Amino acid sequence: MQLIDGKKISKEIRDELKAEVELLKKQGRQVCLAVIQVGKDTASSVYVNNKKKACAYIGIESAAYELEESTTEGEVLQLIDRLNQDNHVNGILVQLPLPGHIDEDKVIRAISPEKDVDGFHPVSVGRLWIGEKGFLSCTPAGIIQLLKRSGISIDGKECVIVGRSNIVGKPMAALLLRENGTVTIAHSHTKDLKEVTKRADILIVAIGKKQFITADYVKDGAVVIDVGMHRDENNKLCGDVAFDEVAEKTSAITPVPGGVGPMTIAMLMNNCVETARK
Ligand code: NAP
Repeated sequence: MQLIDGKKISKEIRDELKAEVELLKKQGRQVCLAVIQVGKDTASSVYVNNKKKACAYIGIESAAYELEESTTEGEVLQLIDRLNQDNHVNGILVQLPLPGHIDEDKVIRAISPEKDVDGFHPVSVGRLWIGEKGFLSCTPAGIIQLLKRSGISIDGKECVIVGRSNIVGKPMAALLLRENGTVTIAHSHTKDLKEVTKRADILIVAIGKKQFITADYVKDGAVVIDVGMHRDENNKLCGDVAFDEVAEKTSAITPVPGGVGPMTIAMLMNNCVETARK
């Protein structure tokens, strides 16, 4: 069984990007990411900090906009409009979730698709599905890199994704299709989930339920990618997959932590650098 090392692969990508940013700077091209956070949600602050650190490591300038919880939707939209027009800013990221009085869809749609480094704008999503160049949603793009850089071929494989969220399941399906996988998406209405997941050569799990996928959901020799992120009864990080019992049946598997998690930021950084490659 191969343990897919997301920490190592993410570091590899960040180092490649760092070298590329140095070259871009020599050609007079800078990369600047604007990060907007509204309110002081603890988890969001951790994510924003990690993004700032990754930017600093790679040589990307980050401009942080830490706004009060009481900031109105109009004020956020005005800021985005200003950043859309600011030539110095290449990428704009709004940390989700936003406070309840702000419409997230409206905010996502306000970001210029040319600066949409999270890949959540409907234009980015459309470009992904029709195979046009555009920003890719970071977690699924990271999973493709995990597979490729671990020497796992997707072409012609039975790929099953459990979960159909806009940030993981759906873009994951589009990316696997682009890589010539045969793709099935399962969700909470899927009948006989085990029968579906057991068909998978590559099983991608994004259910959001702690250790839900046990060994009886997995075909012998399958590759299993666990997107889930939870705390177990001992407060240790764990995923949507019951790692210990599933790992022995697989040919390759991602651990939690140290699998998919570190890839999301690496791919966000890649999207930022992409703005300067154009
Ligand atoms: P989500 O929006 O809650 O979606 C969960 C999906 O799982 C839904 O499509 C749901 O089906 C499906 N589902 C729920 N129960 C099911 C069941 N019993 N059988 C089959 N399908 C079921 O979750 P998400 O945002 O995609 O995130 C999933 C997990 O990944 C979470 O643990 C999250 O924390 C983690 N995550 C990690 C990263 C990272 O960077 N590592 C990034 C994003 C998310 P319906 O659509 O029918 O309700």
